[in-house]
Amino acid sequence: MTTYQYDLFVIGAGSGGVRAARVSAQYGARVAIAEEDNFGGTCVLRGCIPKKLFVYASAFAEEFEDARGFGWTVGDTHFDWPTLVANKDTDIARISRVYRRLLAENNVTIFEERAVLKDAHTIYLKKSGQEVTAETILIATGGYPSRESELPGYELCITSNEAFHLKKFPDRIVIAGGGYIALEFAHIFHGLGADVTLIYRGPKVLRGFDDDLRDALQHSMEKKGIRLALDTVLTRVERSDGCLRATTFAGEHIDVDQVMLAIGRRPNISGIGLETLGVKTRKSGHIEVDRYSRTSVSNIYAIGDVTGRLDLTPVAIHEAMCLAKTLYGDEPTAPDHELVATAVFTRPEIGTVGLSEEKALKRGHTIDIYKTSFKPLKHTLSGRDERSLMKLVVDAETDRVLGCHIFSAEAGEMAQLVAIALKMGATKAQFDATVAVHPTMAEELVTIRTKSATRSPGEPK
Ligand SMILES: Cc1cc2nc3c(=O)[nH]c(=O)nc-3n(C[C@H](O)[C@H](O)[C@H](O)COP(=O)(O)OP(=O)(O)OC[C@H]3O[C@@H](n4cnc5c(N)ncnc54)[C@H](O)[C@@H]3O)c2cc1C
Repeated sequence: MTTYQYDLFVIGAGSGGVRAARVSAQYGARVAIAEEDNFGGTCVLRGCIPKKLFVYASAFAEEFEDARGFGWTVGDTHFDWPTLVANKDTDIARISRVYRRLLAENNVTIFEERAVLKDAHTIYLKKSGQEVTAETILIATGGYPSRESELPGYELCITSNEAFHLKKFPDRIVIAGGGYIALEFAHIFHGLGADVTLIYRGPKVLRGFDDDLRDALQHSMEKKGIRLALDTVLTRVERSDGCLRATTFAGEHIDVDQVMLAIGRRPNISGIGLETLGVKTRKSGHIEVDRYSRTSVSNIYAIGDVTGRLDLTPVAIHEAMCLAKTLYGDEPTAPDHELVATAVFTRPEIGTVGLSEEKALKRGHTIDIYKTSFKPLKHTLSGRDERSLMKLVVDAETDRVLGCHIFSAEAGEMAQLVAIALKMGATKAQFDATVAVHPTMAEELVTIRTKSATRSPGEPK
Protein backbone atom coordinates (compact mmCIF):
# COMPACT_ATOMS: atom_id res chain seq x y z
CA MET A 1 0.00 0.00 0.00
CA THR A 2 1.33 3.46 -0.91
CA THR A 3 2.02 5.68 2.04
CA TYR A 4 1.75 9.41 1.74
CA GLN A 5 3.31 12.09 3.93
CA TYR A 6 -0.10 13.61 4.62
CA ASP A 7 -3.68 12.41 4.66
CA LEU A 8 -4.85 15.81 3.42
CA PHE A 9 -3.06 18.66 1.66
CA VAL A 10 -5.03 21.90 1.43
CA ILE A 11 -4.12 24.55 -1.15
CA GLY A 12 -5.27 27.97 0.05
CA ALA A 13 -5.66 29.22 3.62
CA GLY A 14 -8.83 31.28 3.18
CA SER A 15 -12.22 30.78 4.81
CA GLY A 16 -12.75 27.28 3.39
CA GLY A 17 -9.18 25.96 3.44
CA VAL A 18 -8.40 26.96 7.01
CA ARG A 19 -11.60 25.41 8.36
CA ALA A 20 -11.17 22.19 6.38
CA ALA A 21 -7.55 21.83 7.55
CA ARG A 22 -8.32 22.56 11.18
CA VAL A 23 -11.38 20.31 11.51
CA SER A 24 -9.78 17.45 9.56
CA ALA A 25 -6.78 17.63 11.91
CA GLN A 26 -9.16 17.55 14.88
CA TYR A 27 -10.59 14.31 13.48
CA GLY A 28 -7.03 12.92 13.59
CA ALA A 29 -5.93 13.37 9.98
CA ARG A 30 -2.33 14.36 9.18
CA VAL A 31 -2.89 17.69 7.45
CA ALA A 32 -0.73 20.26 5.64
CA ILE A 33 -1.77 23.58 4.12
CA ALA A 34 -0.09 25.97 1.66
CA GLU A 35 -0.78 29.69 1.43
CA GLU A 36 1.03 32.07 -0.90
CA ASP A 37 -0.23 35.26 0.76
CA ASN A 38 -1.13 36.11 4.35
CA PHE A 39 -3.50 33.77 6.18
CA GLY A 40 -7.26 34.34 6.10
CA GLY A 41 -7.93 34.67 2.37
CA THR A 42 -10.27 37.11 0.70
CA CYS A 43 -12.68 37.47 3.61
CA VAL A 44 -10.04 38.53 6.10
CA LEU A 45 -7.56 40.36 3.88
CA ARG A 46 -9.65 42.05 1.19
CA GLY A 47 -13.30 41.11 1.64
CA CYS A 48 -15.93 40.87 4.37
CA ILE A 49 -13.91 42.05 7.37
CA PRO A 50 -12.11 45.15 6.04
CA LYS A 51 -15.28 45.97 4.09
CA LYS A 52 -17.44 45.90 7.23
CA LEU A 53 -14.90 48.10 9.04
CA PHE A 54 -15.20 50.60 6.19
CA VAL A 55 -19.01 50.32 6.38
CA TYR A 56 -18.85 51.26 10.08
CA ALA A 57 -16.60 54.22 9.22
CA SER A 58 -18.95 55.43 6.51
CA ALA A 59 -22.02 55.36 8.78
CA PHE A 60 -20.82 58.16 11.07
CA ALA A 61 -21.63 61.04 8.72
CA GLU A 62 -25.36 60.22 8.80
CA GLU A 63 -25.23 59.49 12.54
CA PHE A 64 -23.78 62.95 13.18
CA GLU A 65 -26.57 64.49 11.10
CA ASP A 66 -29.27 62.39 12.78
CA ALA A 67 -28.03 63.34 16.25
CA ARG A 68 -29.27 66.91 15.83
CA GLY A 69 -32.94 65.93 16.02
CA PHE A 70 -32.20 64.31 19.38
CA GLY A 71 -30.78 67.50 20.84
CA TRP A 72 -27.10 66.97 20.17
CA THR A 73 -24.86 69.63 18.76
CA VAL A 74 -22.09 67.94 16.89
CA GLY A 75 -19.02 70.12 16.45
CA ASP A 76 -16.75 70.25 13.44
CA THR A 77 -16.16 66.78 12.08
CA HIS A 78 -13.26 65.68 9.95
CA PHE A 79 -12.55 62.33 8.38
CA ASP A 80 -8.98 61.09 7.90
CA TRP A 81 -8.69 58.27 5.37
CA PRO A 82 -5.05 57.27 6.19
CA THR A 83 -6.07 56.74 9.84
CA LEU A 84 -8.92 54.43 8.82
CA VAL A 85 -6.69 52.44 6.44
CA ALA A 86 -3.90 52.12 9.03
CA ASN A 87 -6.23 51.05 11.86
CA LYS A 88 -7.94 48.56 9.56
CA ASP A 89 -4.55 47.13 8.51
CA THR A 90 -3.54 46.64 12.14
CA ASP A 91 -6.68 44.69 12.89
CA ILE A 92 -6.51 42.62 9.71
CA ALA A 93 -2.90 41.66 10.55
CA ARG A 94 -4.09 40.54 14.01
CA ILE A 95 -6.91 38.39 12.58
CA SER A 96 -4.54 36.87 10.01
CA ARG A 97 -2.14 35.89 12.81
CA VAL A 98 -5.03 34.26 14.70
CA TYR A 99 -5.87 32.17 11.61
CA ARG A 100 -2.26 31.01 11.35
CA ARG A 101 -2.04 30.27 15.06
CA LEU A 102 -5.22 28.17 15.02
CA LEU A 103 -3.73 26.00 12.30
CA ALA A 104 -0.44 25.53 14.15
CA GLU A 105 -2.26 24.76 17.42
CA ASN A 106 -4.15 21.99 15.65
CA ASN A 107 -0.92 20.43 14.35
CA VAL A 108 -1.48 21.44 10.75
CA THR A 109 1.85 21.68 8.89
CA ILE A 110 2.12 25.11 7.30
CA PHE A 111 3.84 25.98 4.03
CA GLU A 112 3.98 29.70 3.41
CA GLU A 113 4.35 29.51 -0.34
CA ARG A 114 2.55 28.77 -3.58
CA ALA A 115 1.56 25.17 -4.17
CA VAL A 116 0.94 23.51 -7.53
CA LEU A 117 -0.11 19.99 -8.34
CA LYS A 118 2.51 17.79 -9.98
CA ASP A 119 0.32 14.73 -10.10
CA ALA A 120 -2.80 13.58 -8.28
CA HIS A 121 -0.86 12.90 -5.08
CA THR A 122 2.20 15.16 -5.36
CA ILE A 123 2.31 18.84 -4.53
CA TYR A 124 5.19 21.02 -5.64
CA LEU A 125 5.98 23.97 -3.37
CA LYS A 126 7.32 26.76 -5.49
CA LYS A 127 9.50 28.80 -3.14
CA SER A 128 11.27 25.98 -1.34
CA GLY A 129 11.24 23.63 -4.32
CA GLN A 130 10.02 20.78 -2.07
CA GLU A 131 7.68 18.05 -3.19
CA VAL A 132 5.28 16.49 -0.73
CA THR A 133 2.69 13.75 -1.13
CA ALA A 134 -0.85 13.43 0.17
CA GLU A 135 -3.61 10.89 -0.13
CA THR A 136 -6.28 13.58 -0.59
CA ILE A 137 -5.91 17.08 -1.99
CA LEU A 138 -8.27 19.97 -1.38
CA ILE A 139 -8.32 22.99 -3.68
CA ALA A 140 -9.58 26.03 -1.80
CA THR A 141 -7.91 28.74 -3.86
CA GLY A 142 -10.83 31.21 -3.96
CA GLY A 143 -11.18 33.90 -6.60
CA TYR A 144 -10.09 37.34 -7.78
CA PRO A 145 -11.84 40.40 -9.23
CA SER A 146 -12.38 40.49 -13.02
CA ARG A 147 -10.69 43.37 -14.78
CA GLU A 148 -12.33 43.37 -18.21
CA SER A 149 -9.09 43.75 -20.11
CA GLU A 150 -10.91 44.65 -23.32
CA LEU A 151 -11.92 48.00 -21.76
CA PRO A 152 -9.48 50.66 -23.06
CA GLY A 153 -7.78 52.06 -19.96
CA TYR A 154 -8.67 49.13 -17.67
CA GLU A 155 -5.13 49.26 -16.27
CA LEU A 156 -5.92 52.71 -14.80
CA CYS A 157 -8.83 51.29 -12.81
CA ILE A 158 -8.88 49.77 -9.34
CA THR A 159 -10.84 46.78 -8.05
CA SER A 160 -12.01 46.01 -4.52
CA ASN A 161 -8.49 44.66 -3.84
CA GLU A 162 -6.90 48.10 -4.27
CA ALA A 163 -9.82 50.03 -2.76
CA PHE A 164 -8.69 48.85 0.66
CA HIS A 165 -5.22 50.35 0.27
CA LEU A 166 -5.62 53.65 -1.57
CA LYS A 167 -3.06 56.20 -0.41
CA LYS A 168 -5.42 59.09 -1.03
CA PHE A 169 -9.18 59.26 -0.55
CA PRO A 170 -10.92 59.66 -3.93
CA ASP A 171 -13.16 62.72 -3.74
CA ARG A 172 -14.88 61.61 -6.94
CA ILE A 173 -15.26 57.99 -7.97
CA VAL A 174 -16.99 55.97 -10.66
CA ILE A 175 -17.89 52.42 -9.72
CA ALA A 176 -18.80 50.02 -12.50
CA GLY A 177 -21.02 47.12 -11.49
CA GLY A 178 -24.40 46.33 -10.00
CA GLY A 179 -23.64 43.50 -7.59
CA TYR A 180 -23.31 43.68 -3.84
CA ILE A 181 -19.62 44.65 -3.86
CA ALA A 182 -20.27 47.61 -6.19
CA LEU A 183 -23.22 48.76 -4.10
CA GLU A 184 -21.45 48.42 -0.78
CA PHE A 185 -18.46 50.42 -2.01
CA ALA A 186 -20.77 53.05 -3.52
CA HIS A 187 -22.24 53.54 -0.02
CA ILE A 188 -18.84 53.40 1.69
CA PHE A 189 -17.30 56.08 -0.52
CA HIS A 190 -20.45 58.20 -0.46
CA GLY A 191 -20.69 57.98 3.34
CA LEU A 192 -17.06 59.03 3.65
CA GLY A 193 -17.73 62.09 1.55
CA ALA A 194 -17.02 61.15 -2.07
CA ASP A 195 -19.06 62.09 -5.08
CA VAL A 196 -20.11 58.66 -6.40
CA THR A 197 -21.47 57.54 -9.76
CA LEU A 198 -22.46 53.92 -10.18
CA ILE A 199 -22.52 52.64 -13.74
CA TYR A 200 -24.42 49.45 -14.41
CA ARG A 201 -25.27 47.78 -17.70
CA GLY A 202 -28.76 46.61 -16.59
CA PRO A 203 -31.90 48.56 -15.75
CA LYS A 204 -31.85 47.56 -12.06
CA VAL A 205 -29.02 46.77 -9.62
CA LEU A 206 -28.65 43.57 -7.55
CA ARG A 207 -29.79 41.03 -10.11
CA GLY A 208 -31.25 37.94 -8.45
CA PHE A 209 -32.54 39.77 -5.36
CA ASP A 210 -36.25 40.41 -4.78
CA ASP A 211 -37.47 43.20 -7.09
CA ASP A 212 -39.00 45.22 -4.25
CA LEU A 213 -35.61 45.29 -2.49
CA ARG A 214 -33.89 46.35 -5.69
CA ASP A 215 -36.38 49.18 -6.24
CA ALA A 216 -36.17 50.33 -2.62
CA LEU A 217 -32.38 50.39 -2.70
CA GLN A 218 -32.20 52.29 -5.97
CA HIS A 219 -34.71 54.83 -4.76
CA SER A 220 -32.79 55.30 -1.52
CA MET A 221 -29.47 55.73 -3.37
CA GLU A 222 -30.90 58.41 -5.60
CA LYS A 223 -32.30 60.26 -2.57
CA LYS A 224 -28.89 60.15 -0.89
CA GLY A 225 -27.20 61.59 -3.96
CA ILE A 226 -25.42 58.49 -5.25
CA ARG A 227 -25.76 58.92 -8.98
CA LEU A 228 -26.92 55.88 -10.94
CA ALA A 229 -26.09 55.57 -14.63
CA LEU A 230 -28.11 52.52 -15.67
CA ASP A 231 -28.40 50.60 -18.94
CA THR A 232 -24.93 51.70 -19.94
CA VAL A 233 -21.32 50.56 -19.64
CA LEU A 234 -17.89 52.09 -19.51
CA THR A 235 -16.32 52.30 -22.95
CA ARG A 236 -13.03 54.00 -22.08
CA VAL A 237 -10.97 55.25 -19.16
CA GLU A 238 -8.12 57.68 -19.79
CA ARG A 239 -5.95 60.19 -18.00
CA SER A 240 -7.07 63.76 -18.41
CA ASP A 241 -5.73 66.89 -16.65
CA GLY A 242 -4.60 65.16 -13.47
CA CYS A 243 -7.72 63.04 -13.14
CA LEU A 244 -9.33 60.09 -14.88
CA ARG A 245 -11.97 60.55 -17.51
CA ALA A 246 -14.53 57.74 -17.67
CA THR A 247 -16.63 57.60 -20.81
CA THR A 248 -19.87 55.63 -20.99
CA PHE A 249 -21.60 53.97 -23.94
CA ALA A 250 -24.24 56.67 -23.60
CA GLY A 251 -21.50 59.18 -24.48
CA GLU A 252 -21.16 60.79 -21.07
CA HIS A 253 -17.70 61.87 -19.82
CA ILE A 254 -17.19 61.76 -16.06
CA ASP A 255 -14.00 63.22 -14.55
CA VAL A 256 -13.01 61.44 -11.34
CA ASP A 257 -10.08 60.52 -9.10
CA GLN A 258 -10.64 56.76 -9.28
CA VAL A 259 -12.58 54.28 -11.38
CA MET A 260 -13.41 51.05 -9.61
CA LEU A 261 -14.39 47.90 -11.49
CA ALA A 262 -16.70 45.65 -9.51
CA ILE A 263 -17.92 43.59 -12.41
CA GLY A 264 -17.65 40.09 -11.03
CA ARG A 265 -15.09 37.62 -9.75
CA ARG A 266 -13.24 34.75 -11.37
CA PRO A 267 -12.05 31.48 -9.84
CA ASN A 268 -8.35 31.12 -9.02
CA ILE A 269 -7.53 28.10 -11.14
CA SER A 270 -4.69 29.01 -13.45
CA GLY A 271 -1.22 27.57 -13.08
CA ILE A 272 -2.02 25.06 -10.38
CA GLY A 273 -1.85 22.01 -12.61
CA LEU A 274 -5.54 21.24 -12.94
CA GLU A 275 -5.53 20.88 -16.73
CA THR A 276 -2.79 18.26 -16.82
CA LEU A 277 -4.56 16.19 -14.18
CA GLY A 278 -7.88 16.38 -16.00
CA VAL A 279 -9.76 18.18 -13.22
CA LYS A 280 -12.91 19.32 -15.02
CA THR A 281 -13.97 22.94 -14.92
CA ARG A 282 -17.19 24.62 -16.03
CA LYS A 283 -17.36 27.24 -18.81
CA SER A 284 -17.00 29.95 -16.15
CA GLY A 285 -13.71 28.33 -15.03
CA HIS A 286 -15.16 27.13 -11.71
CA ILE A 287 -14.13 23.63 -10.68
CA GLU A 288 -16.87 21.07 -11.23
CA VAL A 289 -17.68 19.08 -8.08
CA ASP A 290 -20.26 16.52 -7.02
CA ARG A 291 -22.55 16.90 -3.97
CA TYR A 292 -19.66 15.93 -1.69
CA SER A 293 -17.26 18.48 -3.23
CA ARG A 294 -15.30 15.80 -5.10
CA THR A 295 -13.82 16.83 -8.48
CA SER A 296 -13.57 14.64 -11.57
CA VAL A 297 -10.29 13.24 -10.13
CA SER A 298 -11.34 10.96 -7.30
CA ASN A 299 -8.85 12.02 -4.58
CA ILE A 300 -9.06 15.75 -5.35
CA TYR A 301 -11.77 17.90 -3.75
CA ALA A 302 -12.63 21.59 -4.09
CA ILE A 303 -14.62 23.98 -1.91
CA GLY A 304 -15.42 27.68 -1.65
CA ASP A 305 -15.38 30.37 -4.33
CA VAL A 306 -13.28 28.26 -6.70
CA THR A 307 -16.35 26.03 -7.15
CA GLY A 308 -18.73 29.00 -7.61
CA ARG A 309 -21.65 27.39 -5.79
CA LEU A 310 -22.42 30.40 -3.59
CA ASP A 311 -19.55 32.86 -3.08
CA LEU A 312 -19.92 33.62 0.61
CA THR A 313 -17.63 33.01 3.56
CA PRO A 314 -20.09 31.01 5.69
CA VAL A 315 -20.82 28.82 2.66
CA ALA A 316 -17.11 28.06 2.15
CA ILE A 317 -16.88 27.24 5.88
CA HIS A 318 -19.99 25.03 5.72
CA GLU A 319 -18.58 23.16 2.71
CA ALA A 320 -15.33 22.69 4.65
CA MET A 321 -17.11 21.29 7.71
CA CYS A 322 -19.12 18.88 5.57
CA LEU A 323 -15.99 17.73 3.76
CA ALA A 324 -14.05 17.05 6.97
CA LYS A 325 -17.01 15.04 8.29
CA THR A 326 -17.26 13.12 5.02
CA LEU A 327 -13.54 12.33 4.78
CA TYR A 328 -12.55 11.78 8.41
CA GLY A 329 -15.74 11.73 10.49
CA ASP A 330 -17.16 8.63 8.86
CA GLU A 331 -20.34 10.53 8.07
CA PRO A 332 -20.80 11.46 4.39
CA THR A 333 -22.35 14.93 4.49
CA ALA A 334 -23.30 17.01 1.46
CA PRO A 335 -23.35 20.77 1.95
CA ASP A 336 -26.82 22.31 1.95
CA HIS A 337 -27.07 25.48 -0.14
CA GLU A 338 -30.79 26.07 0.45
CA LEU A 339 -32.04 29.01 2.52
CA VAL A 340 -28.68 30.70 2.99
CA ALA A 341 -29.29 34.14 4.47
CA THR A 342 -27.22 37.01 3.19
CA ALA A 343 -26.75 40.73 3.67
CA VAL A 344 -25.79 43.66 1.52
CA PHE A 345 -24.15 46.27 3.70
CA THR A 346 -25.60 49.33 2.06
CA ARG A 347 -27.25 52.03 4.15
CA PRO A 348 -29.91 50.98 5.07
CA GLU A 349 -28.87 47.34 4.75
CA ILE A 350 -30.44 44.52 2.83
CA GLY A 351 -31.02 41.24 4.65
CA THR A 352 -32.57 38.41 2.76
CA VAL A 353 -33.26 34.69 3.01
CA GLY A 354 -35.14 32.29 0.80
CA LEU A 355 -37.00 32.82 -2.43
CA SER A 356 -37.70 36.19 -3.98
CA GLU A 357 -41.21 36.77 -5.30
CA GLU A 358 -39.88 36.23 -8.83
CA LYS A 359 -38.04 32.99 -8.00
CA ALA A 360 -40.96 31.55 -6.04
CA LEU A 361 -43.22 32.06 -9.07
CA LYS A 362 -40.59 30.58 -11.38
CA ARG A 363 -40.47 27.50 -9.17
CA GLY A 364 -44.21 27.08 -9.62
CA HIS A 365 -45.49 28.30 -6.24
CA THR A 366 -48.72 30.21 -5.94
CA ILE A 367 -47.78 32.84 -3.39
CA ASP A 368 -49.22 35.32 -0.96
CA ILE A 369 -47.23 38.50 -0.53
CA TYR A 370 -47.13 40.39 2.73
CA LYS A 371 -45.21 43.62 2.75
CA THR A 372 -44.92 46.83 4.65
CA SER A 373 -42.99 50.02 4.05
CA PHE A 374 -42.63 52.44 6.94
CA LYS A 375 -40.61 55.29 8.38
CA PRO A 376 -38.49 53.94 11.25
CA LEU A 377 -39.21 55.48 14.65
CA LYS A 378 -35.67 56.88 14.84
CA HIS A 379 -36.25 59.01 11.78
CA THR A 380 -39.34 60.69 13.20
CA LEU A 381 -36.88 62.76 15.27
CA SER A 382 -33.80 62.65 13.05
CA GLY A 383 -35.92 63.94 10.18
CA ARG A 384 -34.12 61.64 7.75
CA ASP A 385 -36.23 60.84 4.73
CA GLU A 386 -35.67 57.10 4.85
CA ARG A 387 -38.12 54.22 4.69
CA SER A 388 -37.76 50.56 5.60
CA LEU A 389 -39.30 47.64 3.76
CA MET A 390 -40.19 44.17 5.02
CA LYS A 391 -41.64 41.48 2.83
CA LEU A 392 -42.68 37.88 3.28
CA VAL A 393 -43.24 35.51 0.37
CA VAL A 394 -45.62 32.78 1.52
CA ASP A 395 -46.67 29.57 -0.23
CA ALA A 396 -50.44 30.01 -0.63
CA GLU A 397 -51.13 26.28 -0.37
CA THR A 398 -48.94 25.25 2.57
CA ASP A 399 -48.67 28.65 4.35
CA ARG A 400 -44.91 28.06 4.55
CA VAL A 401 -42.78 31.22 4.47
CA LEU A 402 -40.58 30.81 1.39
CA GLY A 403 -38.69 34.08 1.57
CA CYS A 404 -38.10 37.07 3.80
CA HIS A 405 -36.68 40.31 2.42
CA ILE A 406 -35.70 43.26 4.56
CA PHE A 407 -34.40 46.74 3.73
CA SER A 408 -33.65 48.51 6.97
CA ALA A 409 -30.98 49.25 9.54
CA GLU A 410 -29.58 45.95 10.94
CA ALA A 411 -31.33 43.92 8.23
CA GLY A 412 -28.39 41.50 8.13
CA GLU A 413 -28.81 40.73 11.82
CA MET A 414 -32.55 40.14 11.32
CA ALA A 415 -32.06 37.90 8.28
CA GLN A 416 -29.73 35.67 10.28
CA LEU A 417 -32.43 34.97 12.87
CA VAL A 418 -35.33 34.67 10.42
CA ALA A 419 -33.22 32.10 8.53
CA ILE A 420 -33.54 29.71 11.51
CA ALA A 421 -37.32 29.90 11.34
CA LEU A 422 -37.36 29.41 7.57
CA LYS A 423 -34.93 26.50 7.82
CA MET A 424 -37.34 24.90 10.29
CA GLY A 425 -40.16 25.31 7.77
CA ALA A 426 -42.04 28.04 9.65
CA THR A 427 -45.48 29.01 8.38
CA LYS A 428 -47.02 32.47 8.22
CA ALA A 429 -49.40 31.36 10.99
CA GLN A 430 -46.37 30.67 13.21
CA PHE A 431 -44.91 34.10 12.41
CA ASP A 432 -48.31 35.55 13.40
CA ALA A 433 -48.40 33.52 16.61
CA THR A 434 -45.03 34.97 17.67
CA VAL A 435 -45.40 37.90 20.06
CA ALA A 436 -43.52 41.01 18.94
CA VAL A 437 -40.57 42.70 20.62
CA HIS A 438 -41.59 46.32 20.94
CA PRO A 439 -40.50 48.88 19.88
CA THR A 440 -38.26 47.33 17.23
CA MET A 441 -38.24 47.23 13.47
CA ALA A 442 -38.19 43.43 13.41
CA GLU A 443 -41.61 43.35 15.07
CA GLU A 444 -43.07 44.22 11.66
CA LEU A 445 -42.16 40.70 10.56
CA VAL A 446 -44.60 39.15 13.02
CA THR A 447 -47.29 41.80 12.77
CA ILE A 448 -47.94 42.09 9.02
CA ARG A 449 -51.49 40.85 8.73
CA THR A 450 -52.69 42.35 5.46
CA LYS A 451 -51.97 40.42 2.32
CA SER A 452 -50.70 42.72 -0.44
CA ALA A 453 -51.27 40.26 -3.27
CA THR A 454 -51.74 36.65 -4.28
CA ARG A 455 -49.84 35.60 -7.38
CA SER A 456 -49.77 32.46 -9.48
CA PRO A 457 -47.03 31.33 -11.86
CA GLY A 458 -47.40 32.78 -15.32
CA GLU A 459 -49.94 35.40 -14.24
CA PRO A 460 -48.97 38.99 -15.16
CA LYS A 461 -48.21 41.31 -12.22
C1 LIG B 1 -15.00 42.99 -1.34
C2 LIG B 1 -15.59 41.69 -0.89
C3 LIG B 1 -16.51 41.68 0.12
C4 LIG B 1 -17.06 40.49 0.56
N1 LIG B 1 -17.99 40.53 1.55
C5 LIG B 1 -18.55 39.39 2.00
C6 LIG B 1 -19.48 39.42 3.04
O1 LIG B 1 -19.84 40.48 3.57
N2 LIG B 1 -20.00 38.25 3.48
C7 LIG B 1 -19.62 37.05 2.92
O2 LIG B 1 -20.11 36.00 3.36
N3 LIG B 1 -18.73 37.00 1.91
C8 LIG B 1 -18.18 38.13 1.44
N4 LIG B 1 -17.25 38.09 0.44
C9 LIG B 1 -16.94 36.78 -0.19
C10 LIG B 1 -15.94 35.99 0.66
O3 LIG B 1 -14.82 36.77 0.91
C11 LIG B 1 -15.55 34.71 -0.08
O4 LIG B 1 -16.72 34.00 -0.42
C12 LIG B 1 -14.67 33.81 0.76
O5 LIG B 1 -13.50 34.46 1.16
C13 LIG B 1 -14.29 32.55 -0.05
O6 LIG B 1 -13.42 31.74 0.69
P1 LIG B 1 -12.48 30.67 -0.04
O7 LIG B 1 -11.89 29.84 1.03
O8 LIG B 1 -13.22 30.00 -1.12
O9 LIG B 1 -11.35 31.52 -0.78
P2 LIG B 1 -10.41 32.69 -0.28
O10 LIG B 1 -10.85 33.23 1.02
O11 LIG B 1 -10.28 33.62 -1.41
O12 LIG B 1 -9.01 31.97 -0.03
C14 LIG B 1 -8.23 31.44 -1.06
C15 LIG B 1 -6.79 31.46 -0.62
O13 LIG B 1 -6.02 30.63 -1.48
C16 LIG B 1 -4.74 31.23 -1.67
N5 LIG B 1 -4.16 30.63 -2.86
C17 LIG B 1 -4.65 30.67 -4.13
N6 LIG B 1 -3.89 29.91 -4.95
C18 LIG B 1 -2.90 29.39 -4.19
C19 LIG B 1 -1.80 28.50 -4.45
N7 LIG B 1 -1.62 27.98 -5.67
N8 LIG B 1 -0.97 28.17 -3.45
C20 LIG B 1 -1.17 28.66 -2.18
N9 LIG B 1 -2.19 29.50 -1.88
C21 LIG B 1 -3.05 29.84 -2.87
C22 LIG B 1 -5.08 32.70 -1.78
O14 LIG B 1 -3.94 33.51 -1.52
C23 LIG B 1 -6.16 32.84 -0.71
O15 LIG B 1 -5.61 33.19 0.53
C24 LIG B 1 -16.66 39.26 -0.02
C25 LIG B 1 -15.71 39.25 -1.04
C26 LIG B 1 -15.18 40.45 -1.48
C27 LIG B 1 -14.16 40.44 -2.59
